[in-house]
Amino acid sequence: MKIGFIGLGNMGAPMAANLAKAGHEVTGFDTAGVEVEGVANAASAAEAASGAEVVITMLPNGDILRRVADEIVPAMDKGAVFLDCSTVDVASARAVAEKAQEAGLLALDAPVSGGVGGAQGGTLTFMVGGDEKGFNIAKELFDIMGQKAVHCGPSGNGQAAKICNNMILGATMIVTCEAFAMADKLGLDRQAMFDVVSTSSGYSWSMNTYCPAPGVGPQSPADNDYKPGFAAELMLKDLRLAQQAATDADADTPLGAAAMRLYEEFVEREDGKGRDFSAMLPRFEKRGHS
Ligand code: NAD
Repeated sequence: MKIGFIGLGNMGAPMAANLAKAGHEVTGFDTAGVEVEGVANAASAAEAASGAEVVITMLPNGDILRRVADEIVPAMDKGAVFLDCSTVDVASARAVAEKAQEAGLLALDAPVSGGVGGAQGGTLTFMVGGDEKGFNIAKELFDIMGQKAVHCGPSGNGQAAKICNNMILGATMIVTCEAFAMADKLGLDRQAMFDVVSTSSGYSWSMNTYCPAPGVGPQSPADNDYKPGFAAELMLKDLRLAQQAATDADADTPLGAAAMRLYEEFVEREDGKGRDFSAMLPRFEKRGHS
């Protein structure tokens, strides 16, 4: 397939490289002038998009996505697929999809989970909203870049699934860290706590797979001095998107709101920036009940 790839950052570069390695003809563009092995460089986003059967975007936020869409939609051939894999607000995803559809394109929002490791290893999960026909065309690309793609319904639903998932993840990580810090103060050994909770009704991905306590459970960023992994500032971004969506949809999300405030404090007023999101545990260790 002839593919345009716009946004060759931490995630986009390895995703584009995997598509090229699988034999697709990939032309990329990034404002930072990034070079990716096997990927031809275009001089602009419009040039990367023109003549492509699928154009993939992997960009920082909804405003940038809207600007890039203004540039590339007129350059794309009718019937081509506009596949946005960035994590953006639901409203931007729906606005961009509408613009693409009006121009005769097939639009998909397909944010990912799995992080940089998943992008490098081709093991991402794609949560996809939008056109069924577009989904079927993009399926073979999802299979190269990832291990699973779930079609979640119309445009914007991929982003909706992503922020609901990450709202659960943020809140469960916080409460798992709180519980470890409280267990310390109660004199309960961390290994004993893990052995009980990981096989009891308090279990979760945060506890069982990504345990925030160093030396306990499987290897995780906690065992590497909380180097990300999944950075606390990226969790904050997703929790803010969740709160924006909750406001727009008039949904009551008290724990999601509390999780957002805690990560805001941790990243913007404490030492959380650049640390893994599970570094909430050393944060709670230092604090008392207030
Ligand atoms: P990044 O900042 O490393 O990459 C974004 C790239 O977009 C940069 O290289 C930047 O130069 C480029 N860019 C910005 N404006 C542009 C424009 N107008 N035209 C072309 N290129 C432009 O970010 P990332 O970590 O690769 O994340 C990309 C997206 O994936 C984000 O929406 C993020 O939330 C999401 N995401 C990231 C992770 C992760 O672990 N890093 C996990 C899941 C989802």
